[in-house]
Amino acid sequence: MKSFEFVNPASLRSAISTLASAGEKAKLLAGGIDLLGEMKDYIQQPDIVVNLKTVPGLNRLTADRRGLRIGPLVTLTEIAEHPVIRANYTALAEAAESVGTPQIRNVGTIGGNLCQRPRCWYYRDEAVVCLKKGGSVCYAVEGENQFNAVLGGGPSWIVHPSDCAPALIALNASVEITGPQRRRVVPLEKFFTLPTQNVLQETILESGEIVTQIIVPAPAAGTRSHYMKVRHKESFDWALSGAAVMLQLRNRRVAACRVVLSGVAPIPWRSPEAEAVLRGKAVTPQVAMQAGQAAMAKARPLGKNAYKVPLTRNVVKLAVLKTAGV
Ligand SMILES: Cc1cc2nc3c(=O)[nH]c(=O)nc-3n(C[C@H](O)[C@H](O)[C@H](O)COP(=O)(O)OP(=O)(O)OC[C@H]3O[C@@H](n4cnc5c(N)ncnc54)[C@H](O)[C@@H]3O)c2cc1C
Repeated sequence: MKSFEFVNPASLRSAISTLASAGEKAKLLAGGIDLLGEMKDYIQQPDIVVNLKTVPGLNRLTADRRGLRIGPLVTLTEIAEHPVIRANYTALAEAAESVGTPQIRNVGTIGGNLCQRPRCWYYRDEAVVCLKKGGSVCYAVEGENQFNAVLGGGPSWIVHPSDCAPALIALNASVEITGPQRRRVVPLEKFFTLPTQNVLQETILESGEIVTQIIVPAPAAGTRSHYMKVRHKESFDWALSGAAVMLQLRNRRVAACRVVLSGVAPIPWRSPEAEAVLRGKAVTPQVAMQAGQAAMAKARPLGKNAYKVPLTRNVVKLAVLKTAGV
């Protein structure tokens, strides 16, 4: 690992100004699970590491009638074990619980989970200068692409790695972002960017900007949610495919819904097609299967990842049935 200066800011303002003035030379550290891995592998070589953990107040979690306010330093374990989140925001608790191992969840934060970098093995290989590292080729297209995107790919075919992001989008969450000039609140759905927008980054974060809060509105009456994830290695792994489903049921019919896929696209992939199938219907195995088929109708697999298409159809079907309690 390259030597670096370790900065312990005493305030948010100070963290932001250090980040903004150093630009690409500085990186923000929360739990460090992802960033330190990248630094040890020479994928990131910052001169300055800004420790967010010394900024007071960013580890607060409140749950009240308005919903949840989650500080970016709240750990995944706290989210997975929180009784209100487990009861009323179930998909989020299940997603947090599905991340890595207990040790990773004890240290890893929700802010870091949302902002973690892709796991594509070409990106993570120090010797490979792929598109995401300023090169000219996405080696996954012709290479070992079994874990890459089947939806929304191009010119890079990474898949978005966070389990919590699809669950939060299904729950209609927003993020508060604080930067040198302004504070803004953005729907989490609009926080992530496709490679067509800027292949070098995965979010809208600009220089010096920090995620300072995650806001989840209180669910409407009759709302249920579930996150289902399929992984290659059951002990700990990122999603091969997953689905976060939110259903608001009225008289046993779907009054409102959100279906957001993980493991299949460069961003958490909301499926308006699956939602259109579900809206207004009573959930049955047939309707759930149609939702799965609709979710994957536009899939364009690469050479070695066509298995993700039937897999995801079934993940959506099972997640919808489980959410509806059918
Ligand atoms: C073996 C292993 C298995 C894993 N399995 C999973 C899994 O199954 N599912 C999953 O979702 N993840 C998984 N992860 C990733 C891990 O969960 C995330 O990396 C972790 O949540 C990151 O949290 P952190 O606080 O350690 O982030 P850090 O490593 O500190 O930061 C990660 C990135 O986010 C940026 N960042 C952090 N906080 C903020 C903020 N507030 N504002 C702006 N940028 C910020 C950092 O600069 C850095 O680029 C796994 C990681 C490992 C090593």
